[in-house]
Amino acid sequence: MTTLRTPAQLCEHGLVPPGRQPVLDAVAARYAVALPAALAQLINHADSRDPIARQFVPDLAELVHHPEELNDPIGDDACSPVEGIVHRYPDRVLLKLTHICAVYCRFCFRREMVGPGKRNALSPKAVAAALEYIRTHPEIWEVILTGGDPLVLSARRLRSVMEALANIDHVKVVRIHTRVPIADPARITSDLVRAIKIKGKPTYVAVHVNHPRELSAHARVACLRMADSGIPLVSQTVLLAGVNDNPKVMVELMRTLVECRIKPYYLHHGDLAPGTGHLRTEIATGQELMRSLRGRVSGLCQPTYVLDIPGGHGKSPIGPNYITGSNSAAHFVVEDFKGQRHQYPAHRLMRNRQEIEQGRRHRERGEADKHHRDHGVPDKGHVAPER
Ligand code: SF4
Repeated sequence: MTTLRTPAQLCEHGLVPPGRQPVLDAVAARYAVALPAALAQLINHADSRDPIARQFVPDLAELVHHPEELNDPIGDDACSPVEGIVHRYPDRVLLKLTHICAVYCRFCFRREMVGPGKRNALSPKAVAAALEYIRTHPEIWEVILTGGDPLVLSARRLRSVMEALANIDHVKVVRIHTRVPIADPARITSDLVRAIKIKGKPTYVAVHVNHPRELSAHARVACLRMADSGIPLVSQTVLLAGVNDNPKVMVELMRTLVECRIKPYYLHHGDLAPGTGHLRTEIATGQELMRSLRGRVSGLCQPTYVLDIPGGHGKSPIGPNYITGSNSAAHFVVEDFKGQRHQYPAHRLMRNRQEIEQGRRHRERGEADKHHRDHGVPDKGHVAPER
């Protein structure tokens, strides 16, 4: 089986009932479809609610658009100074080399940008301009290759971009966001792994995984190949209704990731992408899931639950808060993982702050005195401490 790209092919392989093909053609005309064999083989045909099928087989509900949904839900375009670059946070940029993916997720936050017929891959001239932008912005510490999926590119193309980034002194870290190890693990060859490593600078790979079954034997081999070559792996998971919005699946997913040497990093609240309302959950559901992880599974298995604020304002953590208030000026109330509440003395925090402040003044006074002794004049750059 090769990658299935049309409802007719999905129908042929028993993934869509024949009667639904015509309506799903309308969905496929709007949003790209690609289901590679590695993922198609994981689908349980007997389960009409199969969590793998739900993520990748098109659904008529995708044509239902809600007024709050946005074509560019996380505001990439608002933060793009040159083609292919998104500069949202001060110390890092996204570099979007391609808008093609190995698989098209039905909940994709960039679904209006990715896929054949949507935005073009960066031309060599645009890549040069994007690299020049990075080169001329010394505050950029990290470059994140995303897209589309950067690992659909050839090892040769990836190597040339990685080498260019390696030659920019102020870029210290490169991160690659990808679904390829899950969707098309055979692409993670030794040659590709060598291509994405840069001398003297770490390459991190963030693997997008939403359900424990996605970590098939082949996917694990692909991830281990990267981990064994010294590439640190982190995960990204999108919270999806009917896929992973229950504690049992979420615990199993986070544990399986850690067993595969992938550190859980982000649990994303579903973005307001068009036609994805049937896959979005309430924020309260995500917070309850995070509570179900806290204390019950290892600290290694805890992602940060985040929401990308529409308009390009970046991610904010939206997990549960365990400081539930203060029952007097003297105490905070802190909840433990069993839901029991405990007092924590507020005055202790206050005292700590006072001690820190006193220590800082003491150090400053000592430095001023030393300057005076060494140079015979008061240190002009020093602000006289309060006495
Ligand atoms: S792999 Fe990422 S960019 Fe591509 S369709 Fe899925 S979510 Fe969107």
